[in-house]
Amino acid sequence: MLLTTCACCAAPLPTYGAGAKKCSRCSTRYCGQACQQQHWKEGGHDKLCKKIKRGGGAEAYHAEEKYKEAAAEAVSACAHETKDQTCYMCTAGAEKEGLVRGCGCRGDSGIAHLSCLVQQAKILQENDVGVQGTHEWWRKCKVCGQWFEGAVARALTWACWKHALVASYPEKYEQNIHQIMGMHLLSCTLRNEGCHSESIAVTRAKLDFLQGSSHAAPGSSFEIEAKEHIVLNLYDLERYEEALPLIRECYAAELARDADSDVSRRTALVYCRTLVRLKRVNQARVLYRKHITRQTDDIDVERAQVDYFAALLSEGVISQPELREAKRIMEERCKRARQAHGSDGPETREAKRGLAAFLRDAKGAFDSPADAESALSLLAELDSAVDADRHIRQGMSVLNLDGAPVLNLDDWRAVPDGEGGTIYLPPKSNI
Ligand SMILES: [Zn+2]
Ligand SMILES: [Zn+2]
Ligand SMILES: [Zn+2]
Ligand SMILES: [Zn+2]
Repeated sequence: MLLTTCACCAAPLPTYGAGAKKCSRCSTRYCGQACQQQHWKEGGHDKLCKKIKRGGGAEAYHAEEKYKEAAAEAVSACAHETKDQTCYMCTAGAEKEGLVRGCGCRGDSGIAHLSCLVQQAKILQENDVGVQGTHEWWRKCKVCGQWFEGAVARALTWACWKHALVASYPEKYEQNIHQIMGMHLLSCTLRNEGCHSESIAVTRAKLDFLQGSSHAAPGSSFEIEAKEHIVLNLYDLERYEEALPLIRECYAAELARDADSDVSRRTALVYCRTLVRLKRVNQARVLYRKHITRQTDDIDVERAQVDYFAALLSEGVISQPELREAKRIMEERCKRARQAHGSDGPETREAKRGLAAFLRDAKGAFDSPADAESALSLLAELDSAVDADRHIRQGMSVLNLDGAPVLNLDDWRAVPDGEGGTIYLPPKSNI
């Protein structure tokens, strides 16, 4: 059902449950008989068909191929970092299968085989059936608790999807929940990794699946969430006109449910920034004031607020109070991320990157000299932290400390090098 195009001519196919032509052995889908025949004779399907069937059918085979592709990429990207290390689960090295790490872990912690991470996630999800917000160990490191990033994240979510397709469950209901979660994780990871069109295709397939099964009544939270996900992807693709009717629908549904929840706030903010992009700034501001009346510590609301202000800034319509508010929110977000995840975790880096990018764009937009100066000095601080980070990593490898256990960048000391520059020294305990 995620294979939403004809295997031969790539024409879009009706998605889940609808009547596209299928190979009777392996379930590869086609737009019609002509394509199916051509694919068998000239497209190499005659040679692949058996193999695909053995792999659990077209969908599972495709997921496995995607897993392998991402796994190879992850292993090669992590080769340097994991050299001479061992897997924290099975304690073996990289002899049979390369090692990876794609989270906030440092030193020698969090290094593992992808297959061990997959095995662990499979076991941990069994207790989670039917509970919302679970299946998280397909996306999160069990050691540091942070989201996986990059190829490691992609590999794990494809593995999750494949598992949902081939694992057998006593109840059809359970299987359906696992498949919905699999599609959900996949669409989120694809979006985070910048694969927006793929993410939209997966989400549409999920919507069809929801409508075809009895798990979601029209207008249910599952359905609204999926539509919102499509909106976010359309936004990233700058297809704002297309996003507008969908986000309006989601917003109305959230209002009807609970106007004062964090979910409503987040939806309202997505609506706000879509309006800003379509130059309906006043409408966006009214909506913002209506919903953001108190401070929130919901990380998604905060992220959506940041995006709203960034849209105002890049459209050149931001006011002075809005500029100040944006800066304050982003600074708080950095502080909280650092407290929760340390100074070098992916979430902290994302928050810092967001603040630095905003300040860079906001240069010159502040009217008051004091505000402008404080923004500039904050930016310089952030830039030098990024610089320090680079220097520290270089220093670590020169000193052969790549696998050193402590790497909290806050502990490193910046010392003048006597020639007007700065050198960075590791924490005393590491020397
Ligand atoms: Zn075709
Ligand atoms: Zn076939
Ligand atoms: Zn292992
Ligand atoms: Zn970790």
